[in-house]
Amino acid sequence: MSQPVINWQEEVSKRQDELLLATQKFLQIKSVLDFSTASAGAPFGSEIRKALDYVLDVCKEAGMEIKDVEGYAGHAEFGAGDELVGILSHVDVVPEGDGWSVPPYEGRIVDGKLIARGAIDDKGPTMAAIYAAKIVKELGLPLGKRVRLIFGTDEETSWRCVDRYFQTEEMPTVAFTPDADFPIIYAEKGMTDLGVSQTLADWQQLGVAEENEPEAGLRTFDSGLRVNMVPDHAKAVLRCAKLSAEKLVARYNDYLAQAKLTGESTVGQGEVMLKLEGHSAHGSTPELGVNAGTMLAHFLASVKLDARGAAFARFVDQYFYGQHYGENLGIAANDEEIGPLTVNTGVFHYEAEGDANMLVNIRYPHSAPYEAWEPRFLEKLKPAGYALRINEHRGPLFVDKEHPLITTLSRVWTEQTGKEAELLSIGGATYGRALKVGVAFGPLFPGRPDSAHQKDEHIMVEDLLKATALYAQAIYELAKE
Ligand SMILES: [Zn+2]
Repeated sequence: MSQPVINWQEEVSKRQDELLLATQKFLQIKSVLDFSTASAGAPFGSEIRKALDYVLDVCKEAGMEIKDVEGYAGHAEFGAGDELVGILSHVDVVPEGDGWSVPPYEGRIVDGKLIARGAIDDKGPTMAAIYAAKIVKELGLPLGKRVRLIFGTDEETSWRCVDRYFQTEEMPTVAFTPDADFPIIYAEKGMTDLGVSQTLADWQQLGVAEENEPEAGLRTFDSGLRVNMVPDHAKAVLRCAKLSAEKLVARYNDYLAQAKLTGESTVGQGEVMLKLEGHSAHGSTPELGVNAGTMLAHFLASVKLDARGAAFARFVDQYFYGQHYGENLGIAANDEEIGPLTVNTGVFHYEAEGDANMLVNIRYPHSAPYEAWEPRFLEKLKPAGYALRINEHRGPLFVDKEHPLITTLSRVWTEQTGKEAELLSIGGATYGRALKVGVAFGPLFPGRPDSAHQKDEHIMVEDLLKATALYAQAIYELAKE
């Protein structure tokens, strides 16, 4: 059978005004998570509910079958066949913050930029996908599969939307998500947020004898705010024992000077507070930051502390100081394609008479599965009296480069842009990870600055139209007879 020849860009141009208007209306709904307006059927608040209703209405009007899954997510479907092609996007946005040059929920177009919270993440691309599907539908092209647009509502917070959705709804055979970069992100590391903690009782059970004449006692230790960031501040309070406050401060200053670090110390009544400044970086690239917590612990490991304080400082020093790849934990792994397993210790908290805990963000390639390295990690924690808790775990995403999903999207990309489709792998997480066989496909074009989550978030109108044309052809090519 001969293939119909379609000028996808032209089909988008015909619908350009309509698409822009629909996108602007969508951007005018302030779909930020708000539990104060949550109710049955609106688990994340009334505005997110409105945004979900809005896209479902647009799809219904276009003749698609819609379904609302208790307000957690929804979908719109057309076509026929056993297999299901999915497009996963989200209708929620992060709060707007300050410093905008235009109102953040208006959808104003300035110098070819459509500026609004959600313009590129992810309401613009969501509407591009809807119009892409509309084009395929309106052209009456023969499809051998079903096409389903899936709309999540909690991507920006904790993905309760897709977790709930896929409890009862069908997983697409293949899918893409327009919520990251063009051309194609085919591999993402698995990501775990782990709690490593020791209660006072856990410590006492170890039965470690108190140090003979300690130089100082560790009272508190705190560093970091978020598990997926390298902490840039750390603070410890010590009670002076054998070592005078002045001597402790002098030693600390030597350490800072030698390690070329910035910090300060404050001497109070029998106590010294030490502060240290590091450099923040994203948790997926701990090697680019200076972890204030591990730097301060490294110093404390050189002081003769009380038994528990010493054990804490040595534990952090041994397993996390300069250990971006989990070397001493025995979990290091490298993958030629995806890169190494990385370890970021984002939060530290220690109280002499309370808990000692750390929040650790470990990202791993598919070739080093969690089940393979978790036992080795536990082996190091147990003798030190630490327990492991999984706060969050998303498995890796990996689609074979020869998979029809990738070869099809690559061909669509090359046909429309004239450029080769470079396949990207990342340590961060895209929404594609919620899918079994899924990749991220746009909407940010190579070379464009990423304004997601920032003030004056925008998408170039030109790019919105180009993305729509790419999605239309992609939907057709993936679902055709
Ligand atoms: Zn997003």
